Amino acid sequence: MTLAPLVRKIRRVGRRLREVKVFAQAMRSSRHPIHAHIIPTRRCNLACAYCNEYDHVSQPVATEEMLRRVDKLADLGTTIITISGGEPMLHPELSRIVRRIDDRGMIATLITNGYLLVPERIRELNRAKLHQLQISIDNVLPDDVSKKSLKVLDQKLRWLAAYAEFDVNINAVVGSGIRNPEDVLVIARRAHALRFTITVGVVHDGFGQLKPLDERVRSIVEDARGMRKPLFSFVRYDRFQHNLARGAPNEWHCHAGSRYLYICENGLVHWCSQQRGYPGIPLKQYSAADLEREYHTVKSCAPFCTINCVQKTAVLDELRENPREAILHILSPPELQLKPEQLPLPVRALSWMFVSGHNRRWFSSMALRVLGLKQRAQLGRLR
Ligand code: SF4
Ligand code: SF4
Repeated sequence: MTLAPLVRKIRRVGRRLREVKVFAQAMRSSRHPIHAHIIPTRRCNLACAYCNEYDHVSQPVATEEMLRRVDKLADLGTTIITISGGEPMLHPELSRIVRRIDDRGMIATLITNGYLLVPERIRELNRAKLHQLQISIDNVLPDDVSKKSLKVLDQKLRWLAAYAEFDVNINAVVGSGIRNPEDVLVIARRAHALRFTITVGVVHDGFGQLKPLDERVRSIVEDARGMRKPLFSFVRYDRFQHNLARGAPNEWHCHAGSRYLYICENGLVHWCSQQRGYPGIPLKQYSAADLEREYHTVKSCAPFCTINCVQKTAVLDELRENPREAILHILSPPELQLKPEQLPLPVRALSWMFVSGHNRRWFSSMALRVLGLKQRAQLGRLR
């Protein structure tokens, strides 16, 4: 009898505990980045028609420089780092970067187009302790908009199902340029059959904004969303897409530059992939004062923004700052629009737990202690 399934289960439990740690840290303090994206190369081996985040000529960033950036993010108190690109698997020492993120106590995730996945590289990522890998699949058959197609990638998905010890999320995409929205359901069913989690992304324009979707596409998106959900799926940020799909703005405060950082290949901090140049400060000089300033900076692009990793961090902050409203958003589907007094008693009790800063700090400190974590000096300093 092989021990592999048991080992996988134990590792899965370990990953869930690390996510609880990230949550507890986010509840305990607003003074550290929850999530950062880093770019080890801008180069990509594909050329999707809607994409503005790649070229075909850039060299990979030197590994020692990438490791310094990871260390600096750890020193700022960052809890999750996602490696993306371009195509990050074109970096020759990707696993060393993943390993350093894990060694510094952060969650390492990877966004790839999947073309370079083979069993040996999947095993390398296992050894480096990757937490989650995400592949975006745009269509069932390749066309002139995108070659990120189920038909091309299916063998890669089977290898992932056989060898990956990390979580795998499939992001199916609808929106501008994607010809057959029904493909989302075919992709989501395949991902479900392979026991991967599923998200549905809506392709934005070059400024992170979205055009309203028609009724047919909206209902396909809702159907696909009902399937297996990924990391932090309890954080309901689908109210953002629910409104945008109808052409309605969202009211929220974007904390990019503070709770979320986008570090480009040149080592500069930007609000996000679609708002590069702001604030455009080198990561090595980024300080607690920058995090504080950007936490409060109002971003005029927020009402029609589609950048969901930033929206997820904002939902965690809403939970800390305005727990009743946030719990309402998290637990009730956007179309129901319940009032706080309509929530069941246990949910109201849960919101009470977070209402006072004292209670929130007490519960999150307890969670961190139960997880056997040392109160890191830097978190104490930044609080
Ligand atoms: S694979 Fe990703 S980075 Fe490359 S062109 Fe397509 S969307 Fe852009
Ligand atoms: S609202 Fe924030 S995440 Fe969205 S496009 Fe603007 S800066 Fe980027």
